[in-house]
Amino acid sequence: MELQLRKSDTLNVVGELAAGIAHEIRNPMTALKGFIQLLQGSIKEDYSMYFNVIMSELKRIESIITEFLVLAKPQAIQYQQNDICKIMQDTIDLINVQAMMHSVQIIADFAPQLPPIYCEPNQLKQVFINILKNAIEVMPKGGDVTVRIRQSDDNHIRISITDQGCGIPKDKIKKLGEPFYTTKERGTGLGLMVSYKIIEEHQGKIDVESEVGVGTTFHITLPIKRVEKEDDHDEI
Ligand code: ADP
Ligand code: MG
Repeated sequence: MELQLRKSDTLNVVGELAAGIAHEIRNPMTALKGFIQLLQGSIKEDYSMYFNVIMSELKRIESIITEFLVLAKPQAIQYQQNDICKIMQDTIDLINVQAMMHSVQIIADFAPQLPPIYCEPNQLKQVFINILKNAIEVMPKGGDVTVRIRQSDDNHIRISITDQGCGIPKDKIKKLGEPFYTTKERGTGLGLMVSYKIIEEHQGKIDVESEVGVGTTFHITLPIKRVEKEDDHDEI
């Protein structure tokens, strides 16, 4: 039996496991939250400190689950020709409240009349959410996030998400996308892992450009037309 796992195999195993677990945790979580909120309203004595801790821990579990939301619903996967600007705009609309709460402004700069691309919209939304969330999180004092979409050559669209955060040191860039790599006190180190996996499945790539103290850009390059592969077994 082959016991050695390549990095990409490990990624797949962790991704699938996490997706399964996320799916199972979502429903009981909703019930828990509801009943705790009910209890909070009916108990007289002041247990507010405990309730605050419980609610904040539940929110943390929820945010971990959110990073796997799409992978947790594999039956919904449907590749089709889609307008990438609409997918991005929907995602920005979704995350804008969170951005505004952190004094972050998301600026959309989309080239007009881009061709539709062959993709799975929910999965791409997941990638955009994870990268935009990171951008918001690295700007505790607020700032701008610019989302630029351009056609980079005959068969590729390039989405560039730029923040004005702390930046990433050169030697740490290669660690991005490794399961559980995080520098945050309450991070999961799973958002980028999921994102890299989804973009690989789209036959695209993610490049990171960063300068410490200035900011970071995540470039996502996606093919407009998908190339059908003869041998899917060697695919990452
Ligand atoms: P998490 O956000 O839970 O830490 P991620 O997989 O989303 O997990 O990100 C992994 C790590 O990559 C982060 O902890 C952070 O160190 C780094 N990172 C990701 N995005 C950025 C960014 N925009 N600016 C600076 N560092 C980033
Ligand atoms: Mg993250």
